[in-house]
Amino acid sequence: MPHEPSGLRPPIQRAAVKRCPACDNTQPVEQFSTTSHGRPSGSCKPCRQQAARLSARRRQAAIRLLIAFHPEEYQALLRLVRGGSQPRLRERGVGDAA
Ligand SMILES: [Zn+2]
Repeated sequence: MPHEPSGLRPPIQRAAVKRCPACDNTQPVEQFSTTSHGRPSGSCKPCRQQAARLSARRRQAAIRLLIAFHPEEYQALLRLVRGGSQPRLRERGVGDAA
């Protein structure tokens, strides 16, 4: 038989690879998340995780600063989400200074 099946795959069926622009590594597409459009995402999973961690740290730092600059508003909002009284957001230097 001239066309005996063998364990060798034709080269056209080899695994698809993609280059990650963040780490510049070419990897199998399985190393990339799938977007909502069904395509592999721009960066590989480890790079996306690293970017997400960095983004979360920056957001936490910004929130800490926001709380430090507006402690009364933070406490009022905290009471609100805990089911306490309505927040009293007031402007400084305006209104009923007693
Ligand atoms: Zn990468």
